[in-house]
Amino acid sequence: PGVADLEALQHQDVARLLPVPGAESDKYRRGVLGVVAGSARYPGAAVLAVEGALRGGAGAVRYVGPAADAVIAAHPETLVHPGPPDRAGRVQAWVVGPGLGDEPGVAEVLASDVPVLVDADGLRGLDPSLVRARSAPTVLTPHAGEAAALLGATRAEVEAGRLAAVRELAARFGATVLLKGSTTLVCGAGTEAASGAAVAGGAVRVNPTGTGWLATAGSGDVLSGLAGSLLAAGLRPVDAASCAAYLHGLAARRASAGGPVTAGEVAGALGGAWRDVTAGL
Ligand code: AMP
Ligand code: MG
Repeated sequence: PGVADLEALQHQDVARLLPVPGAESDKYRRGVLGVVAGSARYPGAAVLAVEGALRGGAGAVRYVGPAADAVIAAHPETLVHPGPPDRAGRVQAWVVGPGLGDEPGVAEVLASDVPVLVDADGLRGLDPSLVRARSAPTVLTPHAGEAAALLGATRAEVEAGRLAAVRELAARFGATVLLKGSTTLVCGAGTEAASGAAVAGGAVRVNPTGTGWLATAGSGDVLSGLAGSLLAAGLRPVDAASCAAYLHGLAARRASAGGPVTAGEVAGALGGAWRDVTAGL
């Protein structure tokens, strides 16, 4: 693939795509996101994914998992549900995986008929045929190490060929793929030709807003929730993923102002980043 297959994300495109509530909006129409995340070992990942979702404009967030106490303590707005995801009530999209460890939930969520974003521990051992068989879109958000594990490659191989890696994953899984890193790449769902050759889903989008300050624990969890909230709002998967990457980078720059930031501070700056993007409309 050549340079012509790359598109840089533009401010104006993101501004047009972000859903702004109007007089007819209610919380259900704005999108209800289900989040399956966290474990006894990583309760904070659940808190940060939920925060990313709430600050990404979700009308409501349903949380399923073992970190309900921590989630409620940090975000009393959250609806917490004991029991499996399929008992949690209607959602417009799911996020599964941040800090999930060995907790269940991935298979149940993949069996649903709404868009699903799979991140972090949810990506471990993920079966391409299970994802390809879904009736609704799937978004995968690996970093280079997670992408390498999915491809049976080394991290160094992925880093040396990021464009090929994101296209190959999109084709193998029939999913939209957001490959995280110093330049985040987003590729629409691909297909696999009868020959077995990978056919990627259109041009790969490149996010220009990243900053090295994002390389901090938990920032990926915020991105998952944010992208999930945009999926729940009804954006096309490739638009949800790329708008999320764009806002996430802007928020980090805003929060950082040239110095270190925590993932929670990045999440806290998402509203301001959103305003920056839509102010010119
Ligand atoms: P995770 O690996 O899941 O913790 O997510 C880390 C987040 O930080 C992702 O959004 C990455 O794209 C971002 N990130 C990591 N390293 C860099 C970097 N060197 N420059 C810009 N963004 C980065
Ligand atoms: Mg991560």
